Amino acid sequence: MSVGEKITEFLKDLPGECTLIAVSKTKPNSDIIDAYDSGQRDFGENKVQELTRKHSELPTDIRWHMIGHLQRNKVKYLVDFVYLIHGVDSVRLLKEINKQSQKVGKTTNCLLQVFIADEQTKFGFSKEEILDLMDSQELKDMKNVQIKGLMGMATNTDDQDQIRKEFQTLRKLFDTLKSNQTPNVSMETLSMGMSGDFQLAIEEGSNMIRIGSLLFGERVYS
Ligand SMILES: *Cc1c(COP(=O)(O)O)cnc(C)c1O
Repeated sequence: MSVGEKITEFLKDLPGECTLIAVSKTKPNSDIIDAYDSGQRDFGENKVQELTRKHSELPTDIRWHMIGHLQRNKVKYLVDFVYLIHGVDSVRLLKEINKQSQKVGKTTNCLLQVFIADEQTKFGFSKEEILDLMDSQELKDMKNVQIKGLMGMATNTDDQDQIRKEFQTLRKLFDTLKSNQTPNVSMETLSMGMSGDFQLAIEEGSNMIRIGSLLFGERVYS
């Protein structure tokens, strides 16, 4: 099956309110075009250089999602065109996104990445940090960012109960924040679920899943 056919099949079983981000990192443009021709428009990348290159080479109506860890000094390369930044994991990064967005006269959509996993290596805010940020004047003053929701990654484990609990933790926080009245916050998007755990994520309330290997095949890193 081609990538486009896989996506068409995949979407048949996906609840309508859940958005599929096709994670095309490391994959060639030809795969993306194949997916594009089947109607897919949302693509995710985790490296700024690869993302900007693909953006310049591929159709302009693709919605590019930055899903990886983003370094502050690279923000300026993205704000012009990025559709949604999923991995905002610090106030300093958010401030830089705001600053660079202001420079180009844009408002950049962001998801705050929350640390939910039982692992040392994952990036993200703690629940307390998010709550503090949400109540802060600092956030209100960042007029060129729009917080659209939360993103999280569960622990890479076979323990389904653990994964489910981690997703539930994120969902609860998401629901708590929905009533937040800050003008540049609109809690609409809960980005959780990858190839290995998207079913659990959807059961626990995800409305945006980030799927790579299941659609494009295993990634080969050279
Ligand atoms: C690579 C990646 C994915 C997709 O992973 P798969 O297991 O291939 O579906 C999702 N989210 C993030 C943040 C990633 O870096």
